[in-house]
Amino acid sequence: MNTRESKRAGMRAGTETAEHKTVCKTGHRFPERSCVACGASDAKGRLVRFVRGKDGSIACDASGRARGRGAYLCAREECFRAAEKRSRLSAALKCPLDSEDYQRLHGEFSAFLARLEQKA
Ligand SMILES: [Zn+2]
Repeated sequence: MNTRESKRAGMRAGTETAEHKTVCKTGHRFPERSCVACGASDAKGRLVRFVRGKDGSIACDASGRARGRGAYLCAREECFRAAEKRSRLSAALKCPLDSEDYQRLHGEFSAFLARLEQKA
């Protein structure tokens, strides 16, 4: 007879609404990115971004908002070293990087880490 009615009521009382609520309560979701060295994903703001600019130069993007192709690393020395060893940064940015580039980037990366520590 009215099985359709009772079915709809059941759906409304189900988990669907509860799930929806938790999403709203946490507000907007942070975009997640993953580290090119270890693959761990984290909120975008907690990873260090490297960006390839229009001129093809690679830089540590402290603002996280620079235009261009980006690659992310955890704010950890180990991840930078791993990315260097396995050429993960150059692969992610589709740009060859030599040891001099890595040396320069490591300097920028270290400065960024030092700033993060100061903030914490
Ligand atoms: Zn990592």
